[in-house]
Amino acid sequence: MPDYDGIILGAGHNALILQACLGKAGLRTIAIERRHVAGGGLTTVEDPRHPGFLHNTHAFFQRAITTMPWYAELELARHGAHYIEPELNVALLTGDGRALEWWTDVDRTVRSFAEFSRRDADALRRWQHEFVPILRDILLPESRSVPLPPDERRALLERSAAGRRLLEVSALSPLEFVLQEFEHPTVQAGLLFFNGLREVDLRVRGFGHHIAALLASPAKAQMSRGGSAALARALEAAVRESGGAIALMTEPARIVVENGRAAGVETADGERISARFVASSLNPTQTFIDLLDPSLVPHEIRERVERFQYNLLAPLFALHLNLREPPRYRASAAHPELERAFMVIMGLDHVDQFPEIVRHHEAGTIPPTVMWGACPTLFDPSQAPPGRHTAFMWEKLPYRLHGQAANWDSARDAHGAEMLKLWRRHAPNLEGVVIDSFTRSPLDVERELPNMRYGDLLVGAFTNDQVGFNRPFPGAGTYRTHISGLYLCGSSSHPGGNITGLPGYNAAKAILNDLGVRGGFP
Ligand SMILES: Cc1cc2nc3c(=O)[nH]c(=O)nc-3n(C[C@H](O)[C@H](O)[C@H](O)COP(=O)(O)OP(=O)(O)OC[C@H]3O[C@@H](n4cnc5c(N)ncnc54)[C@H](O)[C@@H]3O)c2cc1C
Repeated sequence: MPDYDGIILGAGHNALILQACLGKAGLRTIAIERRHVAGGGLTTVEDPRHPGFLHNTHAFFQRAITTMPWYAELELARHGAHYIEPELNVALLTGDGRALEWWTDVDRTVRSFAEFSRRDADALRRWQHEFVPILRDILLPESRSVPLPPDERRALLERSAAGRRLLEVSALSPLEFVLQEFEHPTVQAGLLFFNGLREVDLRVRGFGHHIAALLASPAKAQMSRGGSAALARALEAAVRESGGAIALMTEPARIVVENGRAAGVETADGERISARFVASSLNPTQTFIDLLDPSLVPHEIRERVERFQYNLLAPLFALHLNLREPPRYRASAAHPELERAFMVIMGLDHVDQFPEIVRHHEAGTIPPTVMWGACPTLFDPSQAPPGRHTAFMWEKLPYRLHGQAANWDSARDAHGAEMLKLWRRHAPNLEGVVIDSFTRSPLDVERELPNMRYGDLLVGAFTNDQVGFNRPFPGAGTYRTHISGLYLCGSSSHPGGNITGLPGYNAAKAILNDLGVRGGFP
């Protein structure tokens, strides 16, 4: 008898969701995690110099978590998760004191667009209306399923009018879509920023539907009460209730393969754990090159792993503040609602800034600052001592600063000071209310979570040959690999990175299907 039914490598949110789904189906599993805490990107840390100030050093804005299928199925609310969805969801503050606003209520968003362009407000409504059924009937179900081979998918889409329209719109690049459908440069910039947030290369054809889908989506940014780690704690509780074990501060050294089948894991401490299958939430390099004996990786698989692309534009630099009072934006004199804005974007006025940002990333240099962030304590006072606040800003910056990631260690604080300067221009009260601050570079991200290679928080680029059935690469796109019993379940699999839990959720379907176990999935 093997020690467990399954071993899961890593204990980020995808791994924990997989583990809890398998546990609910009656399987015995163990997750092996190198850090002292489970949750991966769901991290909340307390400022060691100022107890009571909590900072979310990775994922903070979590899109539509409460509508994810696993959220209800794993009863995460019962396990302590609680989400907040602020009404003024996003505000882009322009240099001339205006604000482009996204509300949870689409009518209010339309009114804000209309202040910039009547025609763009009409386009927003038109696209929203047209894409609601496409999103509901095609894109959402696709993201929650094991992907189909591209030819099969296309043939299926061509059978319906909605499918044909989706193919037509996705033939454009996000940039083409926005320039064709919207006229105001700030509206164009705002829409592309959102798509850029999901790290699609805005120039690449095949992703034109992303913005229309975004406009149609009722799913807005949410935050976890108590900090992002509160979701990790709820997931852990669901795992433990279903009988799962989590081994912290444990690193896998080797995936054991016997008779052509994954049969266990040897840890860096020399312990051998046996199982009927192994599921890796790590990146393809870690899974196929670092942990498998080279004799088990055929030449063509090795080549595909080596060709796997990480995102150029994904790495984030972060500035975190402890504050005596929340930022008060100059623009709120004309727009008092900004005092309760959730995500705030600054430094972005014109669509022409995008090519400039890309050019800087390619050159490894720092572009003029475009940043976004939030003041979590406006909505959840539990993340700071009474009357105090925390706030942060993120900026996309190149991993290899001036050719080398190590340069970040000496450049970090100076860049944080530059971001604070821009922040103060928009929120003058920040002068004199900062109690403490710290910065995190793209290199720090990779140090903490090495699966985010090159600081790529999505763990793999979204390019046409790395999405759906081909993510991470052809032959491993249904969560199954060339080795029987070895599965993938992390962000390098469909539908990709961010806190969606869907790679882990879909991997559970594939594994239970292969084992012939009914998992309670509809
Ligand atoms: C600064 C920053 C901000 C972000 N903001 C957002 C946001 O606002 N919204 C959003 O949705 N997403 C955001 N993300 C992205 C999000 O955090 C990731 O896409 C998500 O965490 C990926 O989930 P995962 O479960 O696949 O992997 P992870 O969360 O990275 O978990 C992987 C786990 O594997 C462990 N591990 C790695 N290597 C090994 C090893 N060799 N052995 C054992 N264990 C190992 C890690 O320690 C980790 O616990 C952000 C990320 C960063 C860095």
